[in-house]
Amino acid sequence: MDIPADTAPAFDLVTYFFDKASRQLNLSDDIHELLRRPWRELTVSVPVRMDSGKVHSFTGFRVQYNAARGPYKGGVRYHPNADMDEVRALAALMTWKTAVVDIPYGGAKGGVQCVPGEMSVGERNRMTRRYTTSIAHLLGPNRDVPAPDLGTDSQTMAWMMDAYGSLYGHTPACVTGKPIELGGSVGRAEAPGRGAVYVLEEVLRHAERPPKGTTIAVQGFGQVGSWIARTAADLGMTVVAVSDVRGGVYNPRGLDVAALVRHNAEAGTVAGFAGAEKVSSAEILELGCDVLAPAAVEKVLHEKNADRVRAKIVLEGANHPVTPRADAIMAERGVTCVPDILCNAGGVIVSYFEWAQNIQAFRWDESRVNSELRRTILGGYATVQARAAGEGVTLRDAAFDVAVERVAKAVQLRGFV
Ligand code: NAD
Repeated sequence: MDIPADTAPAFDLVTYFFDKASRQLNLSDDIHELLRRPWRELTVSVPVRMDSGKVHSFTGFRVQYNAARGPYKGGVRYHPNADMDEVRALAALMTWKTAVVDIPYGGAKGGVQCVPGEMSVGERNRMTRRYTTSIAHLLGPNRDVPAPDLGTDSQTMAWMMDAYGSLYGHTPACVTGKPIELGGSVGRAEAPGRGAVYVLEEVLRHAERPPKGTTIAVQGFGQVGSWIARTAADLGMTVVAVSDVRGGVYNPRGLDVAALVRHNAEAGTVAGFAGAEKVSSAEILELGCDVLAPAAVEKVLHEKNADRVRAKIVLEGANHPVTPRADAIMAERGVTCVPDILCNAGGVIVSYFEWAQNIQAFRWDESRVNSELRRTILGGYATVQARAAGEGVTLRDAAFDVAVERVAKAVQLRGFV
């Protein structure tokens, strides 16, 4: 199979791994075709009266990729590059992600093409409500359940819940990642980062390396990256570098992560943190360290820099941060990539717990959330690791094999083919 160029559409890059799994699993042509395309795509115009008094029409998307295993599930992204191709690729990834950790959902993704940082709170509130009402007929606890992603947060989910509720009545389970006060789950914000580090601990255990003293560099210091850094530091790992869109900081002896979190809260960036050297977000990918965690945006490791990665483990906090060509180069060099669909699944796992709590009108405490998160994500890792070891393939190939097999089985059992 030809490996697509890094410049190929995002959906083709993601689907390359699906095609590989489909061939490995010997799927029939009928099932292959059924799983290779989204089940539903919607593009909407989102007119918003801006603070200037003018109306601006944004473009919004919702892609429902596959719901064979349960309601569609996936985040909503506010970003200038959120287009149909990117949203479709992310919806496919969500389908494989929910399957690999065996939670009862399908996969979806949404987005609005905008620059959220340049919009006022009022503008974002109005845009979120209009987007929600435009796609509301596709949503619902048993249909499709959005969550936060790049550029959106718990406040965005509160607005979505309110807009949905004004149409259909109070329905907290219609979105996850809500504020705790409105039915959100404790531990949801921390979950993608925490889950990634739980998996990292197991990867290190298999490599017979203690977490203490393991060095880690993290690109991105948002909802995912900051919690990777904090959880890694709590386990005694040495966080040597972090970056965000405005710059990065590096100290080979380790950064004081608690102080860094305070600096970031005050300055709005990790850049300028005292007691560390300046480093660019691109340089961070090539630093000498044990673990590299790309936790910002997609395709940061590609054909041109994959051979310069010095870390032995790449922990994919972001969604598709590694292109297929970079994946092949790093596999050849013996770098272990912990694939996005497993690595950052902690977010959707705790979203599942939030949805379950809302449906039961019941609350779990944080220790229950964290222990169930650990059990679920490590269950996924154990299955993937055993398959990788048994078949002599990478963790990514094994993860796609497990996920695609599960979705194919569900499609078959439902009688589609
Ligand atoms: P976020 O908006 O909270 O944070 C993104 C971080 O990346 C910020 O620190 C930002 O400054 C930084 N960043 C943006 N562009 C950058 C660049 N070019 N170089 C370096 N840093 C850059 O977003 P998030 O929720 O943490 O999401 C990050 C990634 O993780 C995305 O790929 C997202 O799809 C994925 N993800 C998020 C969740 C979740 O629940 N939030 C769950 C799973 C996966």
